[in-house]
Amino acid sequence: MEKLIICTVCPRGCRITVSGDNGVVNSVEGYGCIRGKTYASNEFISPVRILTTTVKVEGLDNELLPVRSAKPLPKDKIFDCIDVIKGVTVKAPINRYDVIVKDICGTGIDMVATKNI
Ligand code: SF4
Repeated sequence: MEKLIICTVCPRGCRITVSGDNGVVNSVEGYGCIRGKTYASNEFISPVRILTTTVKVEGLDNELLPVRSAKPLPKDKIFDCIDVIKGVTVKAPINRYDVIVKDICGTGIDMVATKNI
């Protein structure tokens, strides 16, 4: 299996081709530096994303609390995590970095507030 991955580590945006099978990387081509090689290999084996979104605030109809995952989440869990977040309502006051959802979807990763409210 071969996969084209655009490196997002720096603005150069190298187009990196990774090939391999069953979670094993056999070759990586097109990277401009070692950071990109590592990024593309990880994306091939187990892609992850930071999830940023908002949650409702009780009693404040015009205000949403921005939240993000404290670490990158497995890409295949992102939509499950969004479903969980949709059902969350918080109560002020909230401080930046407060945990809003602990261990979201059993990933071991918390969703945290990114501003005070
Ligand atoms: S491979 Fe290196 S040079 Fe290319 S985009 Fe990624 S970080 Fe930048």
